[in-house]
This record gives sequence, structure tokens and C-alpha cells, in this order.
Amino acid sequence: MADSKSTVGEVRVAPDRLHAFTMAICRADGSSEAEARLVADHLVLANLYGHDSHGVGMMPAYIQNTTTGRCIRNHHAKIIKDNGAVVVIDGGVGYGQVVAKETMDIGIERAKKHGVCVIGLTNAHHIGRIGHWAEQCARAGMVSTHWVNVHGHKSLVAPFGGAEPRYSTNPYCTAVPRKGKEPIVLDFATSQVAMGKVRVANNKQIQMEPGLLIDAAGVDTTEPGVMYNPPYGAILPFGLHKGGGLAVICDLLAGALTGGKTHSPATIREGTDIVNNMLSIIIDPAAMGGTQAFEDEVETFITWVKSAKPRPGVPEVLAPGEPERARRIDREKNGVPIDGTTWQQLLDVARKVRLNDTEIPGVAA
Ligand code: NAD
Repeated sequence: MADSKSTVGEVRVAPDRLHAFTMAICRADGSSEAEARLVADHLVLANLYGHDSHGVGMMPAYIQNTTTGRCIRNHHAKIIKDNGAVVVIDGGVGYGQVVAKETMDIGIERAKKHGVCVIGLTNAHHIGRIGHWAEQCARAGMVSTHWVNVHGHKSLVAPFGGAEPRYSTNPYCTAVPRKGKEPIVLDFATSQVAMGKVRVANNKQIQMEPGLLIDAAGVDTTEPGVMYNPPYGAILPFGLHKGGGLAVICDLLAGALTGGKTHSPATIREGTDIVNNMLSIIIDPAAMGGTQAFEDEVETFITWVKSAKPRPGVPEVLAPGEPERARRIDREKNGVPIDGTTWQQLLDVARKVRLNDTEIPGVAA
């Protein structure tokens, strides 16, 4: 994205202040202390990792949804089907940051017991950055893979070859733990860009790169406004027919297989609803080739991959997950950049939940 064209400016906020501010908004809206902390932990970490699309800029939509009952505060994951190693959870449109964490807690415990757990989380409010859940599994020594679909709002992403949208940004994620090191985390939307990145560009009033969006006629455009103003355009799938196919599989596994819902006319609504379903497969390496052999082989392969000579202009071959950690080091030191529009929206939502002005920290540097 061509940031240099932004006309709305930005503020830099220290991560701990941003965390305190996000928690205060959640608490004032009626969330428990524990829920507010989980939401703030998740959103601020997404910002630190550079995924501003899934950071604190989501708060206005979250508070809009708690206000309309489309996100239920202080709600917990409920097991609705239990076959030991195969479990289905109803998220009851509770905060995704709560019900997905609880789902992973159950999945990890079952995977330790059975060697594997296939767990479906259905009907959760937005579960945010999927890497967050894979990292929870990796901290417990588990390999995990996650297919996610999204419904409750209008279609955003065109199927491969289509001129109009039929589903949403359907993220896919796999994480592999490493001994004494941060995990390998591959985590992406199956669309060319996550919708939140279009929101950020629209807020910054900047054009996007070519090849990401089409207008209502199916013609390439760089204007993020096509996703906000009728006649609506669409985001293209990544990776041509391969990415388009993976997005379809995400909806089928996360939406249909789990007993949740796919993105279809039956689940499309107007407004800011964000419902996620997720199929997760959590595997204990000890139950397969053995932990030691697995750890050794992971190191052998990643070392080999990273030893490739970089292409001209590329400083270093990185493993999935490394770009996020580099951004975190930078942002912990220099603060989280937040565009002026998003910052104003956060101040507005803080006032909406009646945080008084002394509680709205003057954190902009
Ligand atoms: P992205 O295009 O930035 O890709 C990120 C992935 O690519 C990461 O695994 C990263 O480590 C890896 N990567 C990036 N550059 C790399 C490099 N040079 N070398 C090696 N690996 C590299 O991600 P995105 O598609 O914009 O998605 C952003 C976030 O949005 C994700 O966390 C995703 O889970 C989330 N998301 C959530 C939803 C939802 O409904 N909850 C929907 C869509 C996306």
C-alpha cells in the first residue's frame, strides 16, 4: 500500500498504554476483567505483529456488536458434541478471544490424551488473528492446523474467475513448535488481502496495490472504497485457482463439517456482524515420530531452507512467523502506529461506552 499518499496522519502509542486503553473500553462496555484482558492481549499483539487489520481498530465493530447483541459479553465455550478426540464447541457468538482460547484449552488437553484432537468451534464472534490460536497450541508443544470461515456480513471475496463476491477472507493457519525457539507460524487470509487491510487503506484514504481488488463490473481497481460504497466490488482470491480453491475448502471444513454454517444467502446479513467457525486439528508430535526426532528434523529443514541465497534486493530468507516477530521488536521499542481515522474511531467508541475523559489516556506522541 502506498502509505505516502495518506492524508489522515498517524499517532504512535506505547503498547502498554494501548493495552490499558483497550481493556478500559471493554470493561466500561460490561466485559469482565478477564474478558477485557483477553481481548486487549489479542488485539494489541496483532498490532505488535504488524497486522493492524486485526488490532485495536476492531474495537468499534466489537462494541457495535455487543450493543446490538451480535457479540455476547462474558460468554463461554460450550461442548455440544464429545467423542473424546473429536469435539464440537458452540461459541454462542461470545467474544472470539474468550471462546477460541477455551476451545484451544480443551483441544490441547485432548491431544495430550489421545495424540490428536479434531475440534470444531462454531458460531464464535470474530476470533481475530488465527496465529494467536496456533501459537497457544505451539506453546503446549502441539502442531496445529486451522481452517476458518466467516459469515454474518456481506460477501467480500470473488471465487476464482468470478466477477462478484461469494464468501469472505477465510483464513488458514498452521504452526509448528520448535525446541527453545519461536514456532513456525504460517497464517494468512485466502484472499489477496485481509478485509481489515482494505479498512486500514480506506481509513488512511490511500490507494491499494493493483491486483487485489475488482470493481462491481469485475474490472481491476486500486480504490478501497469499492468495498464500502455501492455498487460493491470484491477482493480477489490469492494464488489464482489454488488460493480460490483453498478458500472454498475453508468454508466447507469450518462451516459445513463442524456443524456450523457456511457463507451463503442464509447467513449473509447487513452490518458489522462477524461470525467465525474454525476446524482445528491439534497433534502431539510425541504420538507420531516422537518429540526428539521431530524437533531435530524441524531444525534440519528450517536451517536448510533459510540457507538459500536470497534473491537480489531480498536481505534474508525468512521462515513463516519471522516477519511478525521482527515487527514486534520494532513496535515494542517505537510504539504502535495507528492512523488518524482509526484513532478517532477509538476515542469515539471510548466516549460511547462512557469512559470519562480522565480515563481516556492522552497517549498520542
Ligand atoms: P499476510 O499476507 O501478511 O501473510 C502473513 C503470513 O505470511 C505469516 O505467516 C507471515 O509470517 C508470512 N510471511 C509474510 N512475509 C513473509 C516472508 N517474507 N517470508 C516468509 N514468510 C512470510 O497475512 P494476511 O493474509 O494479511 O492475514 C493477516 C491476518 O488476518 C492473519 O493473522 C489472519 O489470521 C487474519 N485473518 C482473520 C480473519 C478472521 O475472520 N478472523 C479473516 C482473515 C484474516
